[in-house]
Amino acid sequence: MAKQRILPFFIPMEGCPYHCVYCDQVAISGHVASPSAEEITVALAAFPTDPQAEIAFYGGSFTCLPRSRQLYYLQAAAPAIAAGRIGGIRISTRPDAVDAATCSFLQEAGVTTVELGVQSFNSKVLAAAGRGYQPQTAEKACLTVREAGLRLGVQLMTGLPEDTPRLAREAVLRSAELGAELLRIYPTLVLADTALAAWYQQGDYMPQSLAEAVSCCRDMAIAARAKGLTIIRMGINPSADVESALVAGPYHPAFGGLVLEAVKKAQIIDLLADYDTAKAATLYFPPVDLPLIWGHKRASLQQLTAAYPLLTLQSDTLLPRGSLRWVCGEESRLSQETYWCQKTVSAWQ
Ligand code: SF4
Repeated sequence: MAKQRILPFFIPMEGCPYHCVYCDQVAISGHVASPSAEEITVALAAFPTDPQAEIAFYGGSFTCLPRSRQLYYLQAAAPAIAAGRIGGIRISTRPDAVDAATCSFLQEAGVTTVELGVQSFNSKVLAAAGRGYQPQTAEKACLTVREAGLRLGVQLMTGLPEDTPRLAREAVLRSAELGAELLRIYPTLVLADTALAAWYQQGDYMPQSLAEAVSCCRDMAIAARAKGLTIIRMGINPSADVESALVAGPYHPAFGGLVLEAVKKAQIIDLLADYDTAKAATLYFPPVDLPLIWGHKRASLQQLTAAYPLLTLQSDTLLPRGSLRWVCGEESRLSQETYWCQKTVSAWQ
């Protein structure tokens, strides 16, 4: 499926009343000012016509803004929607800031997608993170968004205090059950001047290592693929603001790529589970998957070569994206990614 085109605007949460333990609002949002209606109009005029595209108002909690302010932004996008130049509006908000009336207001104003910053569906994780709501609130918000006919996106975090890789992957499965189509996954980073930074410095909190975060997000990506969810982001957007505020944690500018490579590597290892490595064999893959097979700085390729010295890797234009074929003498086996993800998820349960 082609990637959906988005025209993003960031609306900083000025004076957010909440106290999430990991949040440094400046580092996360950068030093940005709220856009004006004129700026939105100008950007929309320069945006290519695409009836599938959405204008997005990101920045945490759109529905916490006064209604008049929400309307100010939504109405700025209305002429482009009426003219068929874009398909709708996307907003992001907190689960405890949506109810049926809010969703109906959003839908009437042209909103098509709501992204909820759920972070976790576990009560201990939510409490430790200072999110200020219960899992039931997040679940109800997801269902309310879907019942209003809006497309649902869910944002999840990994590595928060009390979180585990198992809880993280179960959160993906729960998101799917609640009707999510889109997913964002952010490993927790320790940023300066946050409660988490103080806990880290006192030895009361340890973030995931990069390897742990990649492995955790690999399983979340497998769960998402198995359930047909589209992951629209993995890992925080690299920026100078984040890098200068970073105290510790699994930050990597190409984090999402590392996770996708890890998924591919796991699929290969599963396909080659019974392979007698003393025999020559060939692993065929579609050319489009070459970057995943090679990996960041060819790390995956080197590991495969070391583990399977008699295995030849060869691209095959007839194989669909995500597929692998292993041939060893008379033996041949095919692995199709979605089916493999579904099989992997079933084995967890
Ligand atoms: S993460 Fe929490 S503290 Fe930070 S802007 Fe969002 S609601 Fe406010």
